[in-house]
Amino acid sequence: MIGAIFRFNYRQLPVRCRAMKRILIVEDEPEIREMIRFSLEPKGYLINEADNAQEARKLLSQHAYDLILMDWMLPGRSGLEFTREIKQKNQKPSPPIIMLTARANESDKVEGLDSGADDYITKPFSPRELAARIKAVIRRSHREEDETSLDFEGLCLDPVQHQVSLHGSPINLSPAEYNLLHFFMSHPDRAYSRSQILDKVWGDNAYVEERTVDVHIRRLRKVLAVSGHDAFIQTVRGVGYRFTPDKLKTSRDNS
Ligand code: CA
Repeated sequence: MIGAIFRFNYRQLPVRCRAMKRILIVEDEPEIREMIRFSLEPKGYLINEADNAQEARKLLSQHAYDLILMDWMLPGRSGLEFTREIKQKNQKPSPPIIMLTARANESDKVEGLDSGADDYITKPFSPRELAARIKAVIRRSHREEDETSLDFEGLCLDPVQHQVSLHGSPINLSPAEYNLLHFFMSHPDRAYSRSQILDKVWGDNAYVEERTVDVHIRRLRKVLAVSGHDAFIQTVRGVGYRFTPDKLKTSRDNS
């Protein structure tokens, strides 16, 4: 029955359109934030702003970011300390971080990169330079992310082969379900609303209703139920869904 539902071959279908890239600016000077926002928004980036680490933490718990622009000199927790915190806390890949700073000497640069920052831009910088660096860093991080195979207790997704298997047996998924599962597996332990999932998996331009997410989740669970891995996809009441890879068929809070 499952085989009948998932009869088409996703390899022959076009690859998904990527969602808009979301960038978080952590910078205490409003003029610089504004300059960055004005230069990036027309290029199609979604921009969120925080003027200290505390605000940024809140935003980081609400959205998945493609990149963080981090000012070094922040009131309270410095950008350097905050970068370390982000990179250490997440065992899973955290968003790439570009450090923004007026400190221009070599040892500062080394310290910045040692903290886990992926790149470093010295103030003042031109919007053109910033845009070029952002593009390069995001491209690099997606390439790494896209090629890493993900494995949670026998549920394995290999992005290079575009193949999902359960304890070594390949399964067939539709493109939407594959993308949905890829998104969940690369963003575990975080609750996402239906609209966030649509935004991340289907892209901003897609004309898809939020109910569609439920339909695809239901189908995905059905396929994963063969091995009990459906329990990884949990319904979070009042929010949406969360992929929790340590719940192998024991405590389900989904309906
Ligand atoms: Ca500053």
